[in-house]
Parts: sequence; structure tokens; C-alpha cells
Amino acid sequence: MSLVLIAEDEEALLEVFSEVVEDLGHRVVRAHNGEEALMLARTEPPDLVVSDHMMPRRTGMQLLHAMRSEPTLSEVPFLLLSAARPSGREAAQTFLAKPVDLATFEHAVNSALQHRATVRTETAQASRESATAVSLAREEMLNWVAHELKTPLSSARLNTQMLLRKVQKRGIEDESRSAEAILRQLDRMNGLVTSILDASRLADGKLELKQVPTDLAPFLQDLMQDWREMQPEMDFALQLGEPVGPLSLDAERVRQVLNNLLSNAVKYSGDSRRIEVGVTLSPGLVLIHVRDWGVGIPAAALPHIFERFQRADSDRSRGHGLGLFIAAALAKLHGGSLSARSALGEGSTFILRLPRRN
Ligand code: ADP
Repeated sequence: MSLVLIAEDEEALLEVFSEVVEDLGHRVVRAHNGEEALMLARTEPPDLVVSDHMMPRRTGMQLLHAMRSEPTLSEVPFLLLSAARPSGREAAQTFLAKPVDLATFEHAVNSALQHRATVRTETAQASRESATAVSLAREEMLNWVAHELKTPLSSARLNTQMLLRKVQKRGIEDESRSAEAILRQLDRMNGLVTSILDASRLADGKLELKQVPTDLAPFLQDLMQDWREMQPEMDFALQLGEPVGPLSLDAERVRQVLNNLLSNAVKYSGDSRRIEVGVTLSPGLVLIHVRDWGVGIPAAALPHIFERFQRADSDRSRGHGLGLFIAAALAKLHGGSLSARSALGEGSTFILRLPRRN
């Protein structure tokens, strides 16, 4: 449905034109003179103006000129109706001589609106294309920065580790603490740089898996042991369920997925200490879930958490919104998937599905 502004000083004609346009399925705004028409157009820019020429307080041609000089109205198609042939009428998109017959009028309205819709689609398409080009350029720059940071970061980390070893040997506590703090921040930066490079290789399809038959039970037991040592204050439970045969996995990459889910479970655990990892089977699939009873995810944010740089909360210090994008892409590379169920205040369950062929 389009909005059509009709300007006509003869009440009977205004009604007839309005009825015809409404019957074509459009919304009509009625104006009784040129001045009123301009004011109404400024209030709500129409998709088409149908205007008589000979009107009081601004003729149709004066209305047309006024509209062409206003940025928000200059592109609005103009259908001019007149018994006379005013000079400059070619500035209007369509000119119809009065008396106008019904079919000609309907056809003129339809084709003016059609043209308007085409121009709008083309403009939207052009702006989408330029937005894609901008985001590609931005992405290339981000990758370049991440790539260039990798070497100086590694060198800074190595040197800080050496420094830490020396100050610890000499028993200088203050300096040791500072060196440890620097190392923690360098590790965070390194994690971010690695994630950016991983995400970009995954998006470009350039990351390859090294899949080998892997026994899930010992793999998960080791993983849980690591987490119990790293986070002794949390309560990790592992439910292995019925035995699964060896799966064809890139164990390092699956560990990366589960580490991300577990670190989120810890990060967003709120007051709850409990985290559960469990394995269940379904035909052709093994399901590994990571469940927490923490803060949960708002329903509106849930569909977007697997997108790049998407975060459900606004605390930037807690993460960078790449982890789940990478985890979901790694699950897909294995021929599986990653999904989430969550409710605000009730915790979250992430389910990694992996195919059972080996
Ligand atoms: P981040 O590095 O920001 O944690 P992720 O991609 O791993 O990035 O997660 C995206 C967002 O999803 C997080 O910022 C967080 O808002 C939300 N999220 C992920 N896991 C959980 C969870 N277990 N509980 C609550 N929110 C979560």
C-alpha cells in the first residue's frame, strides 16, 4: 500500500479521484489547495502526488517547484492534471489533460507508483552492496591488524615469562606480581588475536580439521579434570551415560568448543557453582551438553549469540563475542551443530551434536 496525496480544489473531483485511488488499494491524503498540499507532504512525505494545476493559494506547478526544491520531497513522483497546458509541465513525471478518463488515470497512478517502487529497491540494493563492501574492507583490516600483532605479542609474552622467572628467582614479590599482571593481559590479547584469525579462517572455509578416531569418555574425563584444577571453587559433574564407540574428531578443536562452553558457563554462572557436562545418544548422533544454572540469556538475544561479535550483555570486559561463532563453525565442520536453550535467571544449556560415524 502506498500513500497518495491528492490536491484538487473542486470537492466533487477530489472525492472521485480519492475513491479511485483507494480502490486501487492505496491510502489517500486529501488537500483542497496547493498550500495545504505542501504542508501535508512535509508532514508525511507521500509516494505520489496527484495534483490539479488551477488551484487557489499555490497552483499545481508552484506546488511541483516547491517540492522539487526540498530534499525530502524532490524525488516524489508528480502527476499533474490540467485543462490548460501550463508551461514547464514536463517537470512533472506525468501530465494528463482534463477531462481525464478513468482507465488513463488508473494506469498513470499505477505506473508512477511502480516506478517509485523500482527506484526504491535499486537504492536499497545499492546501499546494501556498499555496506557489504565496507564490512569486507573492515574485516580485511581487522585480519591484517591481528596478523601483524601476532609476532610482537609472542615476543612480548616470551620476554615477560623470562622476566617473571628472574624476579621470582630473586624473590622480589612486588615485581613478580606486576610481571604476572602483564602476562595475564598479554595472554588475553593473544587469545583475542587467535580468535580473530580463527574466525576469519572459518568464515573463508580455510580451516581444516585433523580428524582421528577418539574415545569420548577418557577425552571428557581429562577435560573435566583440567577444569576442576583451574576452577576449584566450581562444582563440575560429568554424566557419561551409555558407552559410545570411537568418534572421528579433531580432538583439539572439540576441546576448543567445549572449553568455550565451559568458560562461558563459569563466566555467567552468577551465584550458582554447579556445571554439568553430559553425553546422550540419538540415532546417528552423540549429544554433549554443557549446562549451568547461572544468569541465563534474554530471549531476544538468544537467536544472535552465535553471530560474530554478538554479546548478550554489555560488559565488554567479560568477552569479545567470538567464542560461540567459532564453536558453532567448528561443530559444523565436524558435520554436527551447536545449539542453546536458555531462560533469563534460570541458566543455559548448550548442546553440541556430533555425527557417530567414525
Ligand atoms: P564472549 O567472549 O563474549 O563470552 P561468546 O561468543 O562465547 O562470547 O558468547 C556470546 C554471548 O553469549 C556472551 O557475550 C554472553 O552474553 C552469552 N552467553 C554465552 N554463554 C552463556 C552462558 N552460559 N550463560 C549466559 N550467557 C551466555
